Amino acid sequence: MKFDHIFIDIDDTLFDFSKAERASLENLFNKHGLPFDDEFLAKYRKHNLKLWQNIERGIYTTADLSELRFDTLVDKERFDSHEEYLRFSNGYIDELACCPFVFDDAKPMLDKLYGKCNMYIVTNGVTRVQYNRLKASGFDKYFKKIFISEEIGLQKPLKKFFEYIFREENITDKSRCIILGDSLTSDMQGGRNAGITTCRIVRNKKIEPNSLCDYQITGLDEFVSLVMQGE
Ligand SMILES: [Mg+2]
Repeated sequence: MKFDHIFIDIDDTLFDFSKAERASLENLFNKHGLPFDDEFLAKYRKHNLKLWQNIERGIYTTADLSELRFDTLVDKERFDSHEEYLRFSNGYIDELACCPFVFDDAKPMLDKLYGKCNMYIVTNGVTRVQYNRLKASGFDKYFKKIFISEEIGLQKPLKKFFEYIFREENITDKSRCIILGDSLTSDMQGGRNAGITTCRIVRNKKIEPNSLCDYQITGLDEFVSLVMQGE
């Protein structure tokens, strides 16, 4: 094995987040009699991307999401009270927690690597959603530990997020660590900050060279080959 410790992101790495996001929003809006279409979804995604970038920067935390998730996107006045609006907003989390759409190549990868190295989840996602989906998919059993930013009070791409894990797990040789994720700003930048090898999964997009990525792959089967080099 080329690596002993593998840090794996969840959303858009193991789970098809776009699919889950769409289904969750659609379910929620249908339940509340609100219109939902592609145009709204595009607007929501733009808004949500900005929110998450601000979470990565430490400007917001995931606790602020209830308030801000649909800010300016839905008319808050249509709800009887602000509490009602917050309940509606958090309803999205309930929907999402029930949507473990996994990519086809995720389980085969976990099966092949399980027992050969230590696998850890590293995610900035919402705690309840991530635990629910890991459990529902049966993926939780593959991981030695699950590190969720909301629980440890630090987020990717902070160096401190990774240093916390190194300390917790007594990891001293960083050359034996690799991070697998889809995001340049949180996963690849985080790996760089931590001084470990980085591997980006790029699905349905053209791979462009990027200095943050030591490796870029288009499917998780390639990750297995990469990690098991020399076997
Ligand atoms: Mg991700």
